[in-house]
Amino acid sequence: MKIGFIGLGNMGAPMAANLAAAGHDVVGFDVAGTTALGVTPVASAVAAAAQRDIVITMLPNGDILRAVAGDIIPAMQSGATLIDCSTVDVDSARAVADQAQAAGMLTVDAPVSGGIGGAAGGTLTFMAGGSADAFAVAQPLFDIMGQKAVHCGEAGAGQAAKICNNMILGATMIATCEAFALADKLGLERQKMFDVASTSSGYSWSMNAYCPAPGVGPQSPADNGYAPGFASELMLKDLGLSQQAAEAVDADTPMGARALELYRQFVEDEGGKGRDFSAMLPRFETRGRS
Ligand code: NAD
Repeated sequence: MKIGFIGLGNMGAPMAANLAAAGHDVVGFDVAGTTALGVTPVASAVAAAAQRDIVITMLPNGDILRAVAGDIIPAMQSGATLIDCSTVDVDSARAVADQAQAAGMLTVDAPVSGGIGGAAGGTLTFMAGGSADAFAVAQPLFDIMGQKAVHCGEAGAGQAAKICNNMILGATMIATCEAFALADKLGLERQKMFDVASTSSGYSWSMNAYCPAPGVGPQSPADNGYAPGFASELMLKDLGLSQQAAEAVDADTPMGARALELYRQFVEDEGGKGRDFSAMLPRFETRGRS
């Protein structure tokens, strides 16, 4: 396949490199001038999109995606497929899909989970929105860059799945951290707390697979001084997108809204930027009720 890759940042560069390593002809562009192993650099997004069977974007946010899409769609060949792997708001995903489809392209919104390690190792999970035809074109590439791809529905469904999942994650991580902090104050050993909650109704991915207490449960960022992992500011971004979507469709999401407030406070006022999102535990540890 002839692939154009736009946005060669922390995630995009290893993803593009994996496609090149698998034998695809990949050209790439990033405004910051970054490159990726095996990927031929080109001078602009338009140059990365022209005469390519597939164009993949991995960009910071919806506004940038809309701007890039506006530039590249007129340059893309008819029948090509645009796959956006960025995490963006549902409205931007749908607007870009509409614009590209009107110009004769197939589109997939395919945000990922798995982080930088998953991007490097080719073990990402893709949540995809688009037609069955578009998903069928994208799937072999998802198989190279990841280990699982779920076709969630029509355009925007991938972004919807991603932000709903991460809203659960933000809220359960906070609940898990505040429960550990309460257990501390009640004199309960953390290991005992884990032994009970991880095998009882308090279990969750946050507790069982990514335990925020150092030395307890499986290896996690807590065992590495809370270096990310999944940085708190990325959780803040995703929680913001979920509340933006909730407002747009009048959904009542009080836990998501509170999680957003707490992560905003943590990132902006409490030194949480650059720390893993499970560093909510040391935050709660040092606090009282007021
Ligand atoms: P990043 O900031 O490292 O990479 C984004 C890249 O896009 C940068 O290199 C930037 O220079 C480039 N860019 C910006 N504007 C551009 C333009 N107009 N044209 C071309 N390139 C442009 O971010 P990242 O960590 O790689 O994340 C990318 C996306 O993936 C984000 O939407 C993020 O929310 C999502 N995501 C990240 C992670 C993670 O762990 N890093 C996990 C899941 C999803």
